[in-house]
Amino acid sequence: MHAYQIKENIKLTLKEYDPNDTKLWDSDKKAAKNKLEDLRKQLIDLQRLLYAEHKQKVLIILQAMDSGGKDGTIRSIFKGVNPQGVRVASFKVPTPEESKHDYLWRIHKQTPRSGEIVIFNRSHYEDVLVVRVHQLIADTVWKKRYEQIRHFEKLLADEGTTIIKFFLHISKDEQKERFLERIDIPEKQWKFNPRDIEERKLWGNYMQAYEDAISKTSTSYAPWYVIPANRNWYRDYVITKIITDVLKKKNMTYPNPVEDLEKYRTALD
Ligand code: ADP
Repeated sequence: MHAYQIKENIKLTLKEYDPNDTKLWDSDKKAAKNKLEDLRKQLIDLQRLLYAEHKQKVLIILQAMDSGGKDGTIRSIFKGVNPQGVRVASFKVPTPEESKHDYLWRIHKQTPRSGEIVIFNRSHYEDVLVVRVHQLIADTVWKKRYEQIRHFEKLLADEGTTIIKFFLHISKDEQKERFLERIDIPEKQWKFNPRDIEERKLWGNYMQAYEDAISKTSTSYAPWYVIPANRNWYRDYVITKIITDVLKKKNMTYPNPVEDLEKYRTALD
């Protein structure tokens, strides 16, 4: 089992996980960047194979606090990957239409088809996180959702979807630094949202909500990984390594060529 994978049926305490941790890398940052380049090449090859084979469905879920690095992770990991066959689905405040349905309706529609990798930028986990912290619905309603989510993810897994879930774990101090950058650096100012300051005040409530969500839904078929995410280079290295390791285990193969392929050589003008 991977060092950052959360075991099934344990009670997670996020305080025990250091967002600055770099324990899986024993060399310097520059060497890690070289290794990441190597892993990216592997991922490009694996994704090409996955697309060609057209059997596997892969769902990657990214959750984080504001400024946690979801966008940067997506950019970094899928740099160079064939955009055909990879898709990002971002989940915002539900639209009026989405609100008229159950919370998994909009999610299920975005799950991957054969040969596809889909990255969820936020997900159905918002429905046990923001919804709980802001008391948008009754406790009795969101408390039932952990079991519903386990069943939903089991259904996807049984039907051939590989699910990998990442919580990008940053510290409250790191978030402050990142918000300050959004005030100081002109190219980042567009990202600043005064609402983020209000959300930050609820940090403790969010941590509790994340601890429960991760503890109650990390399963063998849809495991959660808590990734130390204060350092972007380490976050990208660990996540890319996990994804490539999971894909390698799929033993994918290119489809067989048509019969008598050679004979077509002479048929070419
Ligand atoms: P992001 O922070 O992901 O880059 P935004 O700044 O547009 O994107 O934030 C999206 C917002 O939508 C977040 O505040 C998130 O909590 C909220 N959201 C997502 N899903 C839900 C949901 N099911 N119910 C309520 N709010 C949601």
